[in-house]
Amino acid sequence: TTAEKTRDTAVFDLIDQEAQRQRQGLELIASENFTSAAVREAQGSVLTNKYAEGYPGKRWYGGCEVVDQVEGLAIDRVKRLFGAEWANVQPHSGSSANLAVYNALIEPGSTVLGMNLSHGGHLTHGNPVNFSGLRYHIVGYMVNRETELIDMDEVRRLAHEHKPKMIIAGASAYSRIIDFKAFREVADEVGALLFADIAHIAGLIAAGEHPNALPHAHVVASTTHKTLRGPRGGIILGNDPEIGAKIDRAVFPGYQGGPLEHVIAAKAVAFGEALQPEFRVYARQIISNSRALAQEFQDRGYRVVSDGTDNHMFVLDLRPQGLNGTKATKLLDPNHITISKSTLPYDTEKILHGGGIRIGTAAVTTRGLAEQDMSKVADLVDRALKGEEVQPEVHGWMGGFPLP
Ligand code: PLP
Repeated sequence: TTAEKTRDTAVFDLIDQEAQRQRQGLELIASENFTSAAVREAQGSVLTNKYAEGYPGKRWYGGCEVVDQVEGLAIDRVKRLFGAEWANVQPHSGSSANLAVYNALIEPGSTVLGMNLSHGGHLTHGNPVNFSGLRYHIVGYMVNRETELIDMDEVRRLAHEHKPKMIIAGASAYSRIIDFKAFREVADEVGALLFADIAHIAGLIAAGEHPNALPHAHVVASTTHKTLRGPRGGIILGNDPEIGAKIDRAVFPGYQGGPLEHVIAAKAVAFGEALQPEFRVYARQIISNSRALAQEFQDRGYRVVSDGTDNHMFVLDLRPQGLNGTKATKLLDPNHITISKSTLPYDTEKILHGGGIRIGTAAVTTRGLAEQDMSKVADLVDRALKGEEVQPEVHGWMGGFPLP
């Protein structure tokens, strides 16, 4: 209640400040989005009070008859959304979903072939300080030096040379279509499992705007909070019931205790939203905006990695401008334009700084920005990168685009 909130102004004032920051700023972080009020209401509900270790119908605690139905709804909807035979909706995050996949399917020390992190792969695809890099023998594939696209001949060559137990297809910073079918062919040639990590593009896949990984991969994991526009969390999906059973055991009791049923309810709401025809319109608009924005940057003399985009994001190489990711962040942040710094394929900057920035359009598209607004977005970023102060203009302009 309001009375209870006024007793803890320390926290609630900060939440108000964050709401204002989100309202006023230009949000270009490729992995962020704005959830609906319904998603937030489910996540803020009394379901947070409930312990429910186990799975629907097989719990260690009493009183689970309602949360069983909540989790059942989330499972049914996400299976429909992606065309999966089984789903686990309990992972607390994308990283923990990935941890469960590794734990369930391969032994420590096994060889894993994944995308090199500087070329777009995620922390959990083999960073040396992450569990993945610490516990497994990681071999990284790189994009082609000229085209900056995934080179399936190179993936095949590495697969035959290193005989990985698992191949990962999926990325945090790759702006082109990922050919899951071709990855499966390579995996079959060497007897590897294909793990598709669709965290970034899940919303596009759900809307039919990117080829689906489900028909091809042995196992698929994702976050729910990026293009899919749900609460912060993870999911694991697949078609082979034996793999599904291993995944369920790896999540609980493997490394999690009680699932977050309030988050699972919010996931169910988001999956319901993504099943609506409007979500397809939204996903198409994300991509149209991303293409238009990449073009606007190119028109202003910026180099876009791989010369364009097919999805919700792209990476700008800022070295020709004499900048890097860290310097760009310092110029954009005070103007309330938020991006993430990014390494580049064959980067010449220190990893800590990164030679560029990653820009995504999922969040601004939720706010209602369309193609005709992308020149203004590029203009504000460009001027801020040149040292101009554009914060009042950012605030004034974004004020015209309400948040859900
Ligand atoms: N996998 C990919 C490809 C990602 O981009 C991310 C998030 O950045 C994750 C997994 C991990 O998600 P989380 O941040 O929820 O742990």
